[in-house]
Amino acid sequence: MIGYPIQHSLSPWIHEQFLKRTNHNGVYTIFEIAPEDNFEDEMIKLREQELDGFNVTVPYKEKIIEYLDDIDPYAKKIGAVNTVKCKDGKWIGYNTDGIGYVRSLESKYPEIQTVKDCTILMLGAGGAAKGICHALVDKGYTSITIANRTKEKAQLLTEQHPSNQAISLEDAAQRVNEFDIIIQTTSIGMKPNTEEMIIPFTSLKQGAIVSDIVYQPIVTKFLQHAKEMNASIHLGHTMLLYQALYAFEIWTNLEPNMKHLDDELQHVLEG
Ligand code: NAP
Repeated sequence: MIGYPIQHSLSPWIHEQFLKRTNHNGVYTIFEIAPEDNFEDEMIKLREQELDGFNVTVPYKEKIIEYLDDIDPYAKKIGAVNTVKCKDGKWIGYNTDGIGYVRSLESKYPEIQTVKDCTILMLGAGGAAKGICHALVDKGYTSITIANRTKEKAQLLTEQHPSNQAISLEDAAQRVNEFDIIIQTTSIGMKPNTEEMIIPFTSLKQGAIVSDIVYQPIVTKFLQHAKEMNASIHLGHTMLLYQALYAFEIWTNLEPNMKHLDDELQHVLEG
């Protein structure tokens, strides 16, 4: 994995579990590239390694694109790459974040796959939200409303997908009880600011699913509050797991058994 800073990344732990669960021989390691390093020189060094692939994280998800030989159409649409497959000397770029998120949600709540016109509210329009939005649309979800502090960014996501709508965070707070699925994608509520919530809410639609991609803490204030209102919740660390799973599948064509792995990752995160 390349990125900076990545000393505390959980990806090596996750991929070690996938390797064990598939009885596959392999090593997943980190290769930190500091902002002051010459990125081009580091890419030459990486080309010299015999790799099956690598992950790319902040701040290089866009920068890596000019070093690729090919790019998957979905990653191209998003304009960011987090997974590279090395095959016959060629580097092919993918983005597994959004697809990983949708797989994590559908594996926890398989019933949502049969109601693609369920109403979805997405809070946030940053990098993660963009990938999730594209993946939801690709999977056939047709009713997505996006609310963001900077409304223009939410509007950009609706331009690419005209069936989506953009609203303000204030409107989202007013209308929150209209939605079947609410996805919190902003950094609000993340440690150390664990008492913060992106919007206040006093009621939710019956049967609503509330998801938060923040995973530190595991159960954010937003999710705690939703739980108190009898909503079903979906935890952010499962996105981490499923985006890694999709990358592992791209590199190895193997499908690890995922049983209880989300609980094990939760224990690791809780120290
Ligand atoms: P990003 O591109 O920087 O986007 C940040 C988002 O948060 C934007 O929508 C931004 O709104 C909003 N925001 C930030 N501060 C705000 C504030 N004070 N009030 C209202 N809105 C605010 O970041 P990202 O990459 O999308 O990541 C977002 C969060 O998701 C982070 O906490 C990250 O750790 C987490 N994440 C989790 C996973 C996972 O695997 N579970 C994967 C990726 C990211 P503006 O557009 O108005 O600035």
